[in-house]
Amino acid sequence: MDQVKLALAIRSLLPPRPEDMEARAAAREARFRKLLNYANENSPYYRKRFQGIDLNTCAITDLPTLTKAQMMENLDDILTDRAVRREGLERFMSDPSNVGSYYKDNYAVCHTSGSQGQPAIIVQDKPAILTTFAAQFARGTPVSRRFLPFLQKLFNPARFAIITQKPGFYPSSTFFNYFPERARRYIKLQRLSVFDPPEVLVEKLNSFQPNFITGYTSALETITHELHAGRLKLNGDLQQMTNISEPLPEAIAQRVEKAFGVHITNVYSMAECMALTCGCQATHGSHLNDELAFLEIVDANNRPVPKGTAGSKVLLTNLYNLAQPIIRYEIDDVVTISAEPCECGSLLPLVKAVEGRAKDQFWVDVNGEIRDLPYYVFLLALHTETDLAEHQFLQTGVNKFVLRAAPLAGRTLSAEKLRELIQRSVTAEGLADVITFDIEIVDKITPEHSGKVRRAKNVFGPPPSAPNPAHELASEP
Ligand SMILES: [Zn+2]
Repeated sequence: MDQVKLALAIRSLLPPRPEDMEARAAAREARFRKLLNYANENSPYYRKRFQGIDLNTCAITDLPTLTKAQMMENLDDILTDRAVRREGLERFMSDPSNVGSYYKDNYAVCHTSGSQGQPAIIVQDKPAILTTFAAQFARGTPVSRRFLPFLQKLFNPARFAIITQKPGFYPSSTFFNYFPERARRYIKLQRLSVFDPPEVLVEKLNSFQPNFITGYTSALETITHELHAGRLKLNGDLQQMTNISEPLPEAIAQRVEKAFGVHITNVYSMAECMALTCGCQATHGSHLNDELAFLEIVDANNRPVPKGTAGSKVLLTNLYNLAQPIIRYEIDDVVTISAEPCECGSLLPLVKAVEGRAKDQFWVDVNGEIRDLPYYVFLLALHTETDLAEHQFLQTGVNKFVLRAAPLAGRTLSAEKLRELIQRSVTAEGLADVITFDIEIVDKITPEHSGKVRRAKNVFGPPPSAPNPAHELASEP
């Protein structure tokens, strides 16, 4: 990745001042028209959907919406490079040695987690990856507008500890897999796994002494526990913690901040738009990078809701990734945009509350020791199963689980293959001898009263003496 391009992109995304707002609005409009015209010229799917619409004057609300199922059913026609095909992408991702490589030297690829039922494939071009890094560098950490601090870091690299899963083709891993070689000069990365035993995490963090720690809520809770127990010993270099991929409950945020004495920022993003927001430096909300994406907060009928009101879903338009145009893409997230300016002084819209899709807590008994079992151990296994329309994991007993899986229309699923995928994931986490599971292939999975499928459902109950029954894992790797 070109260092000059990265530096320029970072500078263009430094927190905006009042005098920048007009130029930013013009830049956003230009990006929007470029995206629409590019999609129209290079994507057969959008060309068909855009017929009769004047792409140079239309409002965003004149455009059709896109569901995840439509995107996956028409993926080959949506991708703008005719040489990039779903089949080739799937083959590429089935080989673990390709993790961190660009597909056809040009495209970063990943699977979404499938936490909305069905995994999707996301292809990003190199400029999109560069934009993602630039946004996080420019707005995701406490920096002044002056550019000098970045150069100083060349000589004294900041230490970033990242606690996610083992590297793979999933969104948060993708971000770090493609970490620009040049940036490694001023940022040292330590990658840790949420499945490392706490003592391993502690040992590695004690020796690395990070300035920044990024991870899922559950991982940040684990290290908070280790800090309280006196095993994790940080010597005062820590500047900030960042929550990714999972909703951050306020009570947990406060506990973590009190323990570590630093602010915890909270990032709301997804594979379809990894540069969507950056964490606020004062609150636990996220600031929308509104020159990079449109986020329409709508009700169930796609009508906009006023600021300060929670919608029932969002429509996402990614303005910076031309490889796979994402235009008015429906995401099942309950989001509120603040009606008031943010106390931190940022001029960017504040995404105040993101409600996770509640999931039940799974647990396992490992030789008499009760452990929480993150749902994404199972979810990870399904990443590559793109014929899946909907799924549900049930805990049906001590260490007993059931996967119900329904195929997309016109496709079939193999119970044998699903079993193999799950077994692989369970084995990778050292639970092969602990967990047993059954697979049920079904036509349809019945939603709950809320109309939503509960994808992690514990029909058995909590462990005999649950240490923290309130702990709810709404995970999305
Ligand atoms: Zn703020």
